[in-house]
Amino acid sequence: MYVKCRRFNRGEHEIAENVIFPETSSDSAISTIRIFFLIKNISNTIIESYRPAKEKIDVMRPYAWLHEEEVQKDGILKKVNTIFLTNRECPFKCTMCDLWRHTLDKPTPRGAIPAQIEFAHQQLPYAPVVKLYNSGNFFDGKAIPKSDYNSIAYLLRGYNHVIVENHPKLTGPFIDEFRLSLNSTFEIAMGLETIHPEVLPALNKQVTKEDFLNASEFLIKKGIDVRAFILLNPPFLLDENENIEWCIKSAEYAFDCGVTACTIIPVREGNGIMEKLRESGQFIPPRFKAIESTFDRILQLNKGRVFCDTWDLEKFSTCVNCFDERKNRLIKMNVEQRILPRIVCTC
Ligand code: SF4
Ligand SMILES: [Zn+2]
Repeated sequence: MYVKCRRFNRGEHEIAENVIFPETSSDSAISTIRIFFLIKNISNTIIESYRPAKEKIDVMRPYAWLHEEEVQKDGILKKVNTIFLTNRECPFKCTMCDLWRHTLDKPTPRGAIPAQIEFAHQQLPYAPVVKLYNSGNFFDGKAIPKSDYNSIAYLLRGYNHVIVENHPKLTGPFIDEFRLSLNSTFEIAMGLETIHPEVLPALNKQVTKEDFLNASEFLIKKGIDVRAFILLNPPFLLDENENIEWCIKSAEYAFDCGVTACTIIPVREGNGIMEKLRESGQFIPPRFKAIESTFDRILQLNKGRVFCDTWDLEKFSTCVNCFDERKNRLIKMNVEQRILPRIVCTC
């Protein structure tokens, strides 16, 4: 007697075959086999085949900008300008990523990134900290041309601290070329995502937890701060408690690597394949309650700053009565870096 795994496919791109599991397999064994099967099948081609169209973008404009506040490593709450740069798409194609929606297919032309920063500065007030988030990797030369480094550094001369995002594998001595042109401290945000041994490879990020450790050690030795993005409910991990525990374990690992901050990213749909994975039972978004528990418990570790991404949080809520209060609690916890009393509701 056998039980069948779910199947979904689209044309010739099969995500999971009708895998036959022995009836005696436990739920967790089936889950492991299913993950193993998907690891072998997830590919750039499959991921791209489910994508909806990209947004219309202008290479001379950032696609978004924000003025917000964030506690820095010295414990002081500071104003932060975040500029979401428009540039060539990230060459990695992670299963859960939707950042490609605001990217170019071709290499970013020289001069476009400085023009975008200048434009953002005309819209934003003063802040001592800037985040240049480019939907990919700052040290990907096709996204951020090296020939623009000096102009970018010149435009950032008014900031005390500069934060960019980058893939752990794009770490090397070339980072100094940019860092040394800054007159501020420097920080790199990297996606560790999860340290779950079967799920991390299935995210198609082409990274291991050892790559993250090596990159962190390299950067920290050079006096560069590191922060980590950690996923809550990555695809292929379905049990709520397991998701919470792996998110906490991943944050602990990141702190042990020397990061000064971890940002929890509750995983959501929106890139095509994630919708399909949800339909096929391979992805379950976190419940609001799970986001709250995870944030509380990682803060309790007391190992560094912990932030929870509050973007699109309504996607995880099922109750209109308590949503605003619960969202505000998380926002306040981001700012205060302490656990606040839970919001009571009958839901
Ligand atoms: S490395 Fe980052 S930007 Fe690139 S696909 Fe993965 S999550 Fe998206
Ligand atoms: Zn409620």
